[in-house]
Amino acid sequence: MNARNSFLLVVLCSLLTLTTRAQDPHPISGINMLKDSRWPSRPDGRTVIEVSWENPTSSDAQQRAWVRDAITNSWGKVANINFTGWGAATASSEGIRIRIDPTGHPHTKGLGTMLDGKPDGMVLNFDFLGDFKCRISKEDCIKFIAVHEFGHALGLAHEHNRADCLCNEDPQGSDGDFYVTPCDLASVMNYCNPKWSNHGRLSPNDVVGIQVIYGKPGGSAPAVTELKEIRFIPCTMDVTDKANTLRQLMSKSSAIRAASFTMETKPVPTKVADKFSVPVTIRYFADNDEAKANGLKKLLVAEGYDDDAINVENMVAVMGSTIPDYIEVWTKTDPVPTRTKFDEIRLIPCTAADREIVRLVRKVIDATPEYEVKAFSEEKNAVPQRAADRLPAPLTIRFFHPDDEGKAYGMKKLLALYGYPIDDIAVENMVPRMSKVYPSYLEIWHK
Ligand SMILES: [Zn+2]
Repeated sequence: MNARNSFLLVVLCSLLTLTTRAQDPHPISGINMLKDSRWPSRPDGRTVIEVSWENPTSSDAQQRAWVRDAITNSWGKVANINFTGWGAATASSEGIRIRIDPTGHPHTKGLGTMLDGKPDGMVLNFDFLGDFKCRISKEDCIKFIAVHEFGHALGLAHEHNRADCLCNEDPQGSDGDFYVTPCDLASVMNYCNPKWSNHGRLSPNDVVGIQVIYGKPGGSAPAVTELKEIRFIPCTMDVTDKANTLRQLMSKSSAIRAASFTMETKPVPTKVADKFSVPVTIRYFADNDEAKANGLKKLLVAEGYDDDAINVENMVAVMGSTIPDYIEVWTKTDPVPTRTKFDEIRLIPCTAADREIVRLVRKVIDATPEYEVKAFSEEKNAVPQRAADRLPAPLTIRFFHPDDEGKAYGMKKLLALYGYPIDDIAVENMVPRMSKVYPSYLEIWHK
């Protein structure tokens, strides 16, 4: 049986074993975001969200002020978000509408924009008269809870729901689809945080995460990279078509706005071209352009370019007093492909029935000349059910070493190429869970 046929069998098996949709943790990834629920930004990059109260009375003015204060000084302070209004809701109020319920469990009826204009979209409790009790000062309870619930209102799911969080709490509510930072025990959104709701204080990763999503305070819209000029420079004339492809990709992308896209038409001295070790090099010259250059790289990776085939080069240090405000994109011929080497690949069938499938996976890898594997090992002991339940997809590739991310994604591509449904394969970044020692093997789990 050749590898391709083997995989047809794998596809059949996976159809039989398919239970849940795979989530593919974001490779750089604790914030757990539902991407489509992000509130839109205005052209200046600011996200303005109206907040109103369904049933305010004069007797709860103090409590409402605590909520407003807690939100303005947390999410509203660290990200480019402006919560406005805070008056009584009317029938046509948009944004977040809050019901004050003295006996209810605080909650939101969805994430992010799902709450837009929804009556009673958020429920807060100021008196704790029902079975939801406050065991500390009421002011603290009200503030801590508000920070958590507004996290939901910004599109954040529970951190402990994540497939990569080692937390004994049961997942609650819907999971996100964008893990912005590594699983974060200190998040205000994590039930496993020993500090309840992190005492209303955003963790460092909460801050980073919300800034990735909504931008820094006063910053411009994070989604669009604005540039004066992007210069495309083919190192030799025979790669002009490659440079043109890059130009087309970047000029048609809605994430990039450049006043001009220019192409170098003269040959480049070999000395210069030889300096580049990868097919695409993005050079920036102004300090402020670092994020833009990395944004261009992200775009190319999203388009299917190999992460390892693109370098971002910081030219700031070699510039004198003249700092150009363009970015250069250099192209050269692909270097001779190197073989991807692994010290070890561990195959872990979650049940005896999966044994056959992991063996087929091994055959495929074995049959691929680009891979060089020193050792394969197969787990023979039964896998605890909990461990199996945590896997985000029927087939999960885990890497533990920061350098192995590209290899793990390469492996995913290979298996997809052989017919394994790509949505059934997850790559799990285990690096944040390791301390100091980063094993150099890959694990391939099957359930
Ligand atoms: Zn919650």
